[in-house]
Amino acid sequence: MARVLKNARIVTGHSEFRGALAICGDRIGKIWRNSGTEEGCPEWPGDEKAVAEISQPWDKDVSISDLHGLVLMAGAIDSHVHFREPGMTAKADLESESKAALLGGVTSFIDMPNTKPATTDKETLEAKLSLSEGRCWANYGFHLGATNANQGHFEEIDPHSYAGVKVFLGSSTGGLLVDDASALRNIFRTSGKEVLIHSEDNDVIAKNLARYRAEYGDELPFRVHPLIRSAEACSLMSRKALDLAAEYGTRLHLLHVSTAIEAQMVKDGRKENPYLTCETSPNYLWFSERDYDRMGAFIKCNPAVKQPSDRAALRRAVKDGTIDTIGTDHAPHLISEKMKSYLSCPSGVCSIQQSLAVMMSVAGEEGLPYSRIAALMSENPASLFGIRDRGFIAEGAIADLVVIDPEMDFTVGDEKDMWRTSSARIDSKCGWSAYGPVPGKMTGERLRGGVRQVWLGGVKAVEDGRLLLGEPSGKRLIFDR
Ligand SMILES: [Zn+2]
Repeated sequence: MARVLKNARIVTGHSEFRGALAICGDRIGKIWRNSGTEEGCPEWPGDEKAVAEISQPWDKDVSISDLHGLVLMAGAIDSHVHFREPGMTAKADLESESKAALLGGVTSFIDMPNTKPATTDKETLEAKLSLSEGRCWANYGFHLGATNANQGHFEEIDPHSYAGVKVFLGSSTGGLLVDDASALRNIFRTSGKEVLIHSEDNDVIAKNLARYRAEYGDELPFRVHPLIRSAEACSLMSRKALDLAAEYGTRLHLLHVSTAIEAQMVKDGRKENPYLTCETSPNYLWFSERDYDRMGAFIKCNPAVKQPSDRAALRRAVKDGTIDTIGTDHAPHLISEKMKSYLSCPSGVCSIQQSLAVMMSVAGEEGLPYSRIAALMSENPASLFGIRDRGFIAEGAIADLVVIDPEMDFTVGDEKDMWRTSSARIDSKCGWSAYGPVPGKMTGERLRGGVRQVWLGGVKAVEDGRLLLGEPSGKRLIFDR
């Protein structure tokens, strides 16, 4: 059976045109442009001829749907998530969070290694892969975590089976801190894979924390978070990582850039190291330090959401191409954990189901072409990690697609809006999103650009707020870099 989606605003990483595409089996079989549209593919021949072009004589079953006014892009690939399995499944698991991802238009995810146990060798990677089989609603892949001692062990692992190597620099999560100078040099010198860096300087953070504890005692207000986990803490460690990467020509991917100064460092650093890339998260583009009073713990993440001037600089960096990928850093915690005081509540924010809609909203506010979203959220992560056959609108690519209504305004968590767009729903196991209503804040964020349909491997998986699939059918990602 073949399906044709016509009259869409087809958006790729470098262009937008009106046209149609055919889904044949699990792949994009053919792409046409509407007449009068400049693009290097054949012109739409009309329903009857299109059907004749793509269907076999024995295949009578071709359906055509009209996507007039709707944006059609490759499904988003989120290369930075924490789905908490194994080890912390009270907060979240592969099944629950991959469902939230799919409903938000994220058709593939790559999970970080700081689970329990941490993913640091062949055994733990294989265990995670077998845990995922048949349980993920979106396509799945994993990063490995570096420790002071494990780099030699990566050679025995099939390079197609993992995406990159995550290094926690200066700030540890789940026992993955690399603080041995020669181990660090060894990783930068020898890694053929992307080296993904979380950089915050623990000494600076400890010094700031002591200062604000002296001022407030144990009842710190949440608005001190960006003063404790400061821009200085981020930029000091990022400087170190960039210098080391320049020395060895390392393929470095700087994660969750949250400050203006780091965006500038990356921009300048590319002159020395062409393999330098970076990510930011929707949280740093949407929220700022002014939101701590209304959001409290529900935007407490590491690195911290910073100043309005940082947010403005990051929006510019998204626009001018300094930022390469959008990763949510989706990191669920229970509401009960988030209700604790500043010093006791864990850092981490839920956001994956709204990430695409937030980026559409940012695009609307900034006059950002949708092709930047396709580049940041699909094509660039696919290229960076060498994801086989996914992430692009191209003939022969696997049909992981998302259809978005760019004009649809909605409120996250609103009962009525949840039936119009799955971007308004909250399906994470912990039951909250930074963009939805949270304790102390009765209504969710107002966004523009809701997901209407999601296609996974050529099958319509989501439509208008409903999950159509009966069971998880995400596939394992293959990494060709
Ligand atoms: Zn993270």
